[in-house]
Amino acid sequence: MQEDILRVLYSEDEIKSTVSRLGSEIRAHYQGKNPLLIGVLKGAIVFMTDLMRAIDDFVEVDFMDVSSYGSAAVSSGEVKILKDLDTSVAGRDIIIVEDIVDSGRTLDYLIKLFQTRAAKSIAICALMDKPEGRVVKDIKADYVGFSVPDAFVVGYGLDFAEKYRNLPYIGILKPEVYKQ
Ligand code: 5GP
Ligand code: MG
Ligand code: MG
Repeated sequence: MQEDILRVLYSEDEIKSTVSRLGSEIRAHYQGKNPLLIGVLKGAIVFMTDLMRAIDDFVEVDFMDVSSYGSAAVSSGEVKILKDLDTSVAGRDIIIVEDIVDSGRTLDYLIKLFQTRAAKSIAICALMDKPEGRVVKDIKADYVGFSVPDAFVVGYGLDFAEKYRNLPYIGILKPEVYKQ
């Protein structure tokens, strides 16, 4: 698996200190509020498990599965709910936990959905932000780990065709991997 990686963008250590910083920021802002963390499957799973521990205060977690990419490396522009929440967001302080914000379409869709479901407050925590990919211009994460260049990244939860999610770091694939 690791032989398919061209370059490591963020090492395990860099990710660890960044997640710890995000956890502290969230803890400071949500004291006594018991926010609901909503992880966007599947890319956010690894980030979510580390982030919830880094917050080190009362939180609840739930997951939602939406798809906008299929197995391709290019966004289809279409958002579908594949699995909905088990928890009601009405009156809750929620934090959407995303692996990466690219076009912003997924978050645009989710924010509108949670607004119609009467969440009390909605924040976004994204491990990575790819500002150059933005199509929905007003989508901005409240908590951002890394601002990344416009490349397709894998690892630490992020896949290419469902592979590489279990890499402990974030990297860029060799171009020949896409062409197989
Ligand atoms: P958006 O809706 O903002 O275009 O992107 C939504 C989803 O596309 C992200 O949550 C992520 O799952 C996927 N995505 C966007 N950029 C990348 C990338 O560079 N690598 C991987 N593996 N997935 C990405
Ligand atoms: Mg995602
Ligand atoms: Mg994917």
